[in-house]
Amino acid sequence: MGSKKSLRTRVVATAESTLAKNHYVTPIDVLLGLRWLHSTNVDRWRQGRGFSLENVIEVDRTKVAEAMDIFLNWARHEGLEPSETEYLARSRGHIVLKFTDDDDATMELLYRIHWVSPSLPESERKEAEVAAKKPADLLVISPLKEFTCEQCGGTGAFLIMEGPGPLCMDCADMSHLVFLPAGNAALTRRSKKLSHLWAVVVRYSRSRKRYERQGLLVEEAALEEAEAQCLADDEVRARRRERDAARREIEDDQLRDAIANEILLLFPGCPKDRAEAIARHTATRGSGRVGRTADARALEARPIELAVGASVRHRDTDYDTLVMSGMDRHEARAQVGSDVTHILEEWRQGPVS
Ligand SMILES: [Zn+2]
Repeated sequence: MGSKKSLRTRVVATAESTLAKNHYVTPIDVLLGLRWLHSTNVDRWRQGRGFSLENVIEVDRTKVAEAMDIFLNWARHEGLEPSETEYLARSRGHIVLKFTDDDDATMELLYRIHWVSPSLPESERKEAEVAAKKPADLLVISPLKEFTCEQCGGTGAFLIMEGPGPLCMDCADMSHLVFLPAGNAALTRRSKKLSHLWAVVVRYSRSRKRYERQGLLVEEAALEEAEAQCLADDEVRARRRERDAARREIEDDQLRDAIANEILLLFPGCPKDRAEAIARHTATRGSGRVGRTADARALEARPIELAVGASVRHRDTDYDTLVMSGMDRHEARAQVGSDVTHILEEWRQGPVS
C-alpha cells in the first residue's frame, strides 16, 4: 500500500508538471518523469532502430501497467481530452514506431494517446500537435571501440546507425560537420540555430549503462558565426584558439593548393574561394580519402568530383533542410539530384563571361 501510494504521488506530480509546461501529457512524459525511461533511449527509439520502446523501459510491464492506470485515472479526473498521435521514425522513410514487442493493441493505443488540456486554445493545440510529430533529433554515436563502416570499410571518430550496420560520417553525408562539445549553453543554442543540419552526439557510459550526450555536430560556418556572436566569452575565445591550432597542425598547405588547382581545372566555373574551402576541408578532414590517401601530384578526378558534389548538395540545395525535417537521406538525395547535376554542369563549362 505504502509503495502504491508513493507511485501515485510520483505519477501525478510528473503529469502535473508536464501539463503545466506543455498543456498536454503523454505516457512517455510520465515514464521519463519516473526515470523508468532515459531520454537518450527515447531518441534512439525515435530513430527507428528496430526495437520497441518496451525494450528500453527499465521496469517490467506490470509496473508500467500500474503507473499507466494511475495516469489514465488522473487524466480523466482532470478532464483532459485524448488525442491519438502517430509516432513516426526519424529515419528510414517514416515507419510507424512500435511501443510493445508483441503488438499489444490496447497498450499500443494507450501509449499513442496524448492527453490535452481543454483550456488550450485551438491554435495552440495545433501547434502542440505539430511539435509532437516533429522528428526526433539526428543521433550520432561516439563509439567506445573502433568500428568498421558497413558501406566503405573505413572508420572515424563518429558513426551513425542506419540499416544493417554503422556508417562513417563520409558515407552518411555528414563529414562536413564539426564537433562542438557540450558545456556552453549559449554557444550550443546559437550553433544549432545557425546550422541547417545538426546532430546530437552520444556516448555509452559503461558505469551508468546508458547513452549520454556529449555535444553536437554542427556546420563549421555555423559554429564560426556562433563563436563570433559569443566572442565576449573567454571560454569561447580559448576554445577557438585551440581549434585553430589543431587545424593548422593537420593542414597540409601543398596538398590543399594542389586539390584547389585540380578542382578549378575540372570545374573552371567554381568560385575560387569555394574551391579553396572544399580543398581545405578535403585535405584536413580526419579520415579523408581524397586528400590523405592520394598523392598530391597524382590526384584522381573521381574523389574530387565527389567532394565538389557533396559541397554543392550541402550548400546550394535544400538537402540539409530536407534531412533535418525527417526525410530519409536517400530520398532527399534523389530529390536534389538534378539541382546538383545542373550546378556541376555549369561549373564544368567555365565562368560566365
Ligand atoms: Zn563509410
